[in-house]
Amino acid sequence: MVLANLGKRINGAVNNALSNTQDDYATSVDIMLKAIVTALLESDVNIALVSKLRGNIRNKLLDKSAKGNRSMTNAQTKKLIHKTVFEELCDLVDAKETQVFQPKKKKTNVIMFVGLQGSGKTTSCTKLAVYYSKRGFKVGLVCADTFRAGAFDQLKQNAIKARIPFYGSYTETDPAKVAAEGVAKFKKEKFEIIIVDTSGRHRQEEALFQEMIEISHVVKPNQTIMVLDASIGQAAEQQSKAFKESSDFGAIILTKMDGHAKGGGAISAVAATKTPIIFIGTGEHIHDFEKFSPKSFVSKLLGIGDFEGLMEQFQTVSNKEDTQALMENISQGKFTLLDFQKQLQTMMKMGPLSNIAQMIPGMGNIMGQVNEEEASRSMKKIVYILDSMNKKELESDGKIFIEQPSRMVRVAKGSGTSIIDVENVLMQQQTMARMAQTVKQSSAGGKPGMPGM
Ligand code: GDP
Repeated sequence: MVLANLGKRINGAVNNALSNTQDDYATSVDIMLKAIVTALLESDVNIALVSKLRGNIRNKLLDKSAKGNRSMTNAQTKKLIHKTVFEELCDLVDAKETQVFQPKKKKTNVIMFVGLQGSGKTTSCTKLAVYYSKRGFKVGLVCADTFRAGAFDQLKQNAIKARIPFYGSYTETDPAKVAAEGVAKFKKEKFEIIIVDTSGRHRQEEALFQEMIEISHVVKPNQTIMVLDASIGQAAEQQSKAFKESSDFGAIILTKMDGHAKGGGAISAVAATKTPIIFIGTGEHIHDFEKFSPKSFVSKLLGIGDFEGLMEQFQTVSNKEDTQALMENISQGKFTLLDFQKQLQTMMKMGPLSNIAQMIPGMGNIMGQVNEEEASRSMKKIVYILDSMNKKELESDGKIFIEQPSRMVRVAKGSGTSIIDVENVLMQQQTMARMAQTVKQSSAGGKPGMPGM
């Protein structure tokens, strides 16, 4: 993933601070901050944002310890460092926009896409169409890109593959006219979501912005989304500001988050336009698309798993009964080995594995170091281990293995793995069970804790 290296470096800095016994607390915090700041700057995050983050972390960590909190135990200090770094990183990618657009059923919701050519607009239009279609919306795609030869064919091919109805024209040259016709047609047919793909140019230019304004006037979008290529670095900030002025988009989709380029520029774009990222593109395939939430993103960045993302994926691909059973367990703060097994089975039907692995606590770091093949082997190991457990074990919270370690030996033998492998799976399930507890607390009105902590 973009920023995987950044995550590793931040993690390294935090872990060093936690294990540093030579320097005093304030010095350890400063050493950690220096490493975090360097890593963020090298990933193209805007310097003003980095400096603010540094100040905030420093204040929180040194204030609390310096003023009357000297009695904190080592474990409490560690927790505070983890929590503070986590919260400040979330803050960095959180536009704090509470009114994110939610399409309504049985109404027409028009969504217009803007962005430069090659940013991943057409691909993301189809991904979003599939996302909503899977959630029971009647979705149509309109190609209002009359500038690029072949644009309509591309959208058409994507739409046919995804079985989404589409509209476009090979002969009409006025994009606003095609957009208006397409929206009118789908409106008449009572489509609930109409996604309008517009043209891009290689660079920002007046003609493009004028076209966006004209299309926007005729289709009157309920939501305008800007598509931003995460790999363009610092240019992202300026690009999104320019689009904001002409099309006043209300949300961002960040694409190509699967690449290895720096992604900090895109993070800065969020802050510059105060606009939330709503989805991220993680590959060329139609399912390589994830709902974005600051907490999930930072959790994955730091390799501590992403419970929210896992739930979201699970709901997309599993059947109703499984989803209901799982949600019921989670609302009670439970997450059994059987829940873990069902989730994995359902999600392994969807590729690529690396997307899922990053959401499982302890797997994200592995993914950074190995290739897809080795990751697949690690995932299969988990599946074999869970398959070798009996009903009683699967339906348990896992503690049964601690009470009767001979069960671990049996499962290791049965799955052709080692006791350490079994222990690892149990640890991963325990972490997710703790995350389920925080979900329960937050839905009961309590304060949500930090995932994985
Ligand atoms: P548009 O010109 O903005 O409509 O861009 P396209 O949708 O045609 O995408 C340009 C290229 O980027 C295509 O080759 C897409 O397959 C690719 N692409 C789009 N989104 C992603 C993504 O999230 N990850 C990767 N790796 N490639 C993507």
